[in-house]
Amino acid sequence: MKFSRIAVWFRNDLRLHDHEALSKAIQQGEEIIPVVCVDPRMFFQTDLGFPKTGAIRAKFLMEAIQNLRDSLRKIGGDLIILNGKPEEALKDFAVQYQIKAVFFSKEVTSEERSVEKSLEKALFSQGIACESFWQSTLFHLEDLPFPVKQVPEVFTQFRKELEKSSPIRELIPSPNTINFPKDEFLTSSGEIPNIKSYGLDEPKQDEKSWLEIKGGESSALGRLQSYFWERDLLKIYKKTRNGLIGMDYSSKFSPWLALGCISPRKIYYEVKRYEKDRKKNDSTYWLIFELIWRDYFRFISKKHGDKIFHIEGIRHQKDSWRRDTDLFHSWIEGKTGVPFVDANMRELKSTGFMSNRGRQNVASFLVNDLGIDWTWGASYFESQLIDYDVCSNWGNWMYVAGVGNDPRESRYFNILRQGKNYDPNGDFVRLWIPELKNLQGFDIHQPWDLSTAHLKNLKIQLGHTYPHPIVDSVHRLSY
Ligand SMILES: Cc1cc2nc3c(=O)[nH]c(=O)nc-3n(C[C@H](O)[C@H](O)[C@H](O)COP(=O)(O)OP(=O)(O)OC[C@H]3O[C@@H](n4cnc5c(N)ncnc54)[C@H](O)[C@@H]3O)c2cc1C
Repeated sequence: MKFSRIAVWFRNDLRLHDHEALSKAIQQGEEIIPVVCVDPRMFFQTDLGFPKTGAIRAKFLMEAIQNLRDSLRKIGGDLIILNGKPEEALKDFAVQYQIKAVFFSKEVTSEERSVEKSLEKALFSQGIACESFWQSTLFHLEDLPFPVKQVPEVFTQFRKELEKSSPIRELIPSPNTINFPKDEFLTSSGEIPNIKSYGLDEPKQDEKSWLEIKGGESSALGRLQSYFWERDLLKIYKKTRNGLIGMDYSSKFSPWLALGCISPRKIYYEVKRYEKDRKKNDSTYWLIFELIWRDYFRFISKKHGDKIFHIEGIRHQKDSWRRDTDLFHSWIEGKTGVPFVDANMRELKSTGFMSNRGRQNVASFLVNDLGIDWTWGASYFESQLIDYDVCSNWGNWMYVAGVGNDPRESRYFNILRQGKNYDPNGDFVRLWIPELKNLQGFDIHQPWDLSTAHLKNLKIQLGHTYPHPIVDSVHRLSY
């Protein structure tokens, strides 16, 4: 069936390549109107004292929207920007511009699903059709070898079953042209919101930051080209992936994956090309392995629904968490007195990114050493991470907090041992905690073990220039 006019509602799929909703709309519609709807509910102030979407993440989102608009304009289209709740703003827009169908990506978690349902209801009441598409994972939902309700709880089993029997679908090419009803819209395609209108300050670029990440499909594809082909780093990914400093220890695809600026299938097929043309080894496989983790959290979230946000998690663990806002804010500010934790938290605050190694350590510290409500930590990450992905974030936090489906009993990270293994000379800590920079080598990880006189010579006074550790359990860090 051909529709006279279809709106493609872009959500966390801000790209042209491998976009089924867009591609089907182009096949089935005479005219196509791409739309983004910036929902003010994304920016409300949480009870914990920070916005649901912080400034760095918001800026990254606006860059991605701008890039999508630029790309659509290059192929003869445009991107309409609406401000408001999609179930109201998009519905009103569809009615006003005689749209006959709205195509969009399916999401899995409750807030997003409830917006979809309300929108569908509002549109149906106006006689406007809706079609939604599954497009955020490497493996398609319909290709799973089990029903969603039977997704294995344990990652290894999930991965093995998928690798054995699920195909990965072909990439859908980017459109070369789009039939956008120009005249009517040229003057009214809408402004990309300034993040200040949500009460957010323009983030400052931290001079210590090495992060070269701009929102949008063009930068995502540029990073793929550079990481795989120009810098040839894929072949050593497995060895470097636990690094802490710089762009190159890991792919940094996550921010773009989170907003759908790049599709996991695009990465997968590029890995296959690299394996054929350059090298196939453990590292090339391991990048795909990590993408399967991403799929796993998405399918687990679909299976368990809202439980991934509940304090009891999916294991129904008793709520015995502390809710001490002072401790929590020391953690946020990177002022716990435990340098490896503080360095990672300061990096997150000023760049919107933290390595996977860092995330595991700071999350373990919050839940195991401080005993603080794990959902607080997950909420702060939600506000701050430029790669915030609802399923990966809440899924990983459940895991670390021991309320997820990890068969291992304890996810305790010994912070000092981790520092010793991953930052043995203290370079990472030195980068983010200048007040300790005079400490040589590994000493920087445990200033409390040094004499007051020695510290004084280096212009360090614990409790003044840098905090004492806020946990008694710091002795557990020694070994
Ligand atoms: C507490 C906690 C919270 C996290 N929150 C998020 C989040 O909101 N968004 C997010 O994308 N990742 C999250 N992760 C997973 C992981 O830390 C990041 O995906 C990774 O650090 C991103 O950097 P990269 O793209 O360079 O990763 P690479 O090492 O280059 O991995 C390639 C891709 O594999 C996927 N991946 C790797 N590790 C994981 C993992 N453990 N879980 C799910 N996917 C993974 C990501 O899509 C990543 O881009 C979280 C981990 C922890 C411990």
